[in-house]
Amino acid sequence: MTEKVYSRVTEAEDMIKALCEKYPKVLWTVRPQMVAVYGIENKERSESNSVLAKIKPIKGIEKTIMQDNNISIRWIIDLFWSDWREWNEAKRQWVLFHELLHIHSEVGKSVKHDLETFRIIVDKIGVLEYNSENLPNLLLTNVEFNMDLRPKIEEEEEKDEISEEEVEEKKKKRMKKAVAEIMGEDAPEETKDKEEKEEDKGEEGDLF
Ligand SMILES: [Zn+2]
Repeated sequence: MTEKVYSRVTEAEDMIKALCEKYPKVLWTVRPQMVAVYGIENKERSESNSVLAKIKPIKGIEKTIMQDNNISIRWIIDLFWSDWREWNEAKRQWVLFHELLHIHSEVGKSVKHDLETFRIIVDKIGVLEYNSENLPNLLLTNVEFNMDLRPKIEEEEEKDEISEEEVEEKKKKRMKKAVAEIMGEDAPEETKDKEEKEEDKGEEGDLF
């Protein structure tokens, strides 16, 4: 297999900057200088491959190399140059917009789809998404996004504020556990559910 050759898609990076300026509330986790877009030059997307672009966070040793060299890039989007040239403005914008929604507020973490894609996008352009003929131009028109549909990102601050319901829930679980112990039964499994799920979200490679 021949090695892929990449070059920077500066046009896409300019578009990202414009999108962030136009939709700061939706793209609040994105700092454009942290995102690089690279196009594959020597290969076309195969017909069976429906993935138009991928984003991945830079972490571990690669992040260290970036830091040591004063490079601000923390996210890489890659796509095919042959696609990029073919897409109209709106399609380019929506594909990039989708990838940007994967950017987590914490470096190295990514946001997962909340549908097979993102609900905030489906709400505006439907499930057909990027193949639709009449995609609205994100920069020339003003798309009114539903803020309630922004992908959920747990913030550190939120964790400190535990709701009353959660306190109640915790109390109940502790009671159940104590009762179980007194009765000589095994503690209910559900008590550790939440923490374990949190950890699962950590590691992740490419995202579409
Ligand atoms: Zn995606």
